[in-house]
Amino acid sequence: MKLVALIFSLSTIIISLATPSSCHNLALEHGLTFSIFPLRLKSGLGGHYIPQTSCSSWRLGVEAHNIIEWTSIPKECEDYVGNYLLGKQYREDSKAVTEEAYKYAKNLNLVGDGKDIWIFDIDETSLSNLPYYADHGFGVEKYNATSFNEWVDLGTAPPLPESLKLYKRLLRLGFKVVFLTGRPQSQRDITLKNLKNAGYTTFHTLIVKDSTEYNGKTAVTYKSSERNKLEEKGYRIVGNIGDQWSDILGTNIGNRTFKLPDPMYYIS
Ligand SMILES: [Mg+2]
Repeated sequence: MKLVALIFSLSTIIISLATPSSCHNLALEHGLTFSIFPLRLKSGLGGHYIPQTSCSSWRLGVEAHNIIEWTSIPKECEDYVGNYLLGKQYREDSKAVTEEAYKYAKNLNLVGDGKDIWIFDIDETSLSNLPYYADHGFGVEKYNATSFNEWVDLGTAPPLPESLKLYKRLLRLGFKVVFLTGRPQSQRDITLKNLKNAGYTTFHTLIVKDSTEYNGKTAVTYKSSERNKLEEKGYRIVGNIGDQWSDILGTNIGNRTFKLPDPMYYIS
């Protein structure tokens, strides 16, 4: 009974907080003489700093590529980003992207000569490194190549379910899938194994970064060059999906590009 009473009193408090009269009281406390519409509560209380709102704006800036070249997420946004990634919004956002991709793909008339390809990035696109990042502050900690590579070498990254679903649908439509990743040659075998265990069993090719050819080059340069090679071989890049802007910027990007969310790290 005590628990029921507590829930009831909490819900009463929540309801009363959401009413215009309480907003009016809040306004009075802030020295304002007019009522504040309830929806304005989240965007600022008389200019007071609200961390969650700020982190939400930061994430939008990152996804829209207005905020670039960042090396780690703001410390005060660790909880926000963690909740986003482990909660349902990340999956909903991913689904919105992959459903649009499928809608586009299924309305195309493929030539049927086996030259229509769809490019998938790997990390945070085909495979998810969330189990790793959940233990490393969701991007608050500065990137540590040694510990990240130890995780990759386990080959146990799960698929991003929305991408796996898109992959299967695209295969059924007759696309060939090409994986294009910044992972190095030394991780090729474990990546192949990981992809297959995660459900990506049939694909045209896996392109990994050749450290000799692309030493010191950005992901934009490397990926553009590899896409150009594919087109020179006669393939048509019909679609291209990745979590980084560097997956979909540059040259030979494909007829349509799709950007998955990733508020954890930035690769130029
Ligand atoms: Mg990626």
